[in-house]
Amino acid sequence: MNETNKQIILQKIKEYNRILLFRHIRIDGDCVGSTKGLKAIIKLTWPEKEVYIIDQEHSDYLSFLGPDDDSIPDEQYADALGIVLDTATPDRISNQKFSLCKELIKIDHHIPVVSYGDYTWVEEERSSTCEMIADFYHTFSDELKIDSTAATYLYTGMVTDSGRFRFRDVDGDTLRCAAVLLDVGVDTDRLFAHLYLESFEYLKFKAHIYQHMEITENGVAYIYIDRRMQETFNLTSETASASIGCLDSIKGSICWIAFIETADEKNSIRVRLRSRFMPINPVAEQYRGGGHACACGATVYSREEVSALLADADRAVKEYKETHEDWL
Ligand code: AMP
Repeated sequence: MNETNKQIILQKIKEYNRILLFRHIRIDGDCVGSTKGLKAIIKLTWPEKEVYIIDQEHSDYLSFLGPDDDSIPDEQYADALGIVLDTATPDRISNQKFSLCKELIKIDHHIPVVSYGDYTWVEEERSSTCEMIADFYHTFSDELKIDSTAATYLYTGMVTDSGRFRFRDVDGDTLRCAAVLLDVGVDTDRLFAHLYLESFEYLKFKAHIYQHMEITENGVAYIYIDRRMQETFNLTSETASASIGCLDSIKGSICWIAFIETADEKNSIRVRLRSRFMPINPVAEQYRGGGHACACGATVYSREEVSALLADADRAVKEYKETHEDWL
């Protein structure tokens, strides 16, 4: 726990009249929840401060959290404090104008691959960045204000990044932070409905995945989602990518991977890697990726690279299984 950094961050927020909040590309519940949650806390506490989140990306399943802000002239970045949330490396920051800010703070829970920012508060063992912002609020609750909307933003990221409080980085602190938010007031019924109800068509797609998933010799389950499959099932890149969740409960398969063809100019293939018990991030890092030990991403550019990545993952699983007995 790093009290000094939290204190400095509070001091910096007090110092600046304009604060810009940044997040990562391919938005998820944690980067959206933590930016919106922190913005709401700052605005409730100091209504006169200008706080902006400028990001063009849209996500269907997160749209219930509401829109972000319109862009502002570049000159207005120059005397602003930038705070980047939930983003390990600067190239993954969605609004690259972050570099125009006068000072930059990084708040994150990913394994730090590249360091950036004038001040950093990174805690890898935290289950989400939203948990860190909830903790930030709780630490300074004599000074900071929160309401149920802000608590809901933060709770959203805590729920989504921890797999509904299931992953191994969930600890007592996680639940204590969640308790603080629930005490403020979160409509969990409505929130879980927004996050987890699935359409009839999507369930049909899931059935297709279960029919077409494959497994390597040592137990790496995987699915390859090409453009045609995405068209057939009328998938967005977001819904196609969510398929990784279908592979997470196969006995003996301690690593699972989804490959999703994108429509970008390089025909890149998004790779989502997940594991239990063993870390899989070393494999992601060999293929232009990173993230967490058991939940990471990478990018490949050909079917040959897909095969190579699968072979590497299979080798890592084999080695783990040969040297450990406690896996399931
Ligand atoms: P994803 O499968 O895209 O949800 O990624 C899982 C985690 O790894 C997230 O926390 C991402 O921010 C992170 N991640 C995904 N892709 C990359 C990448 N290419 N480089 C670094 N981190 C990544």
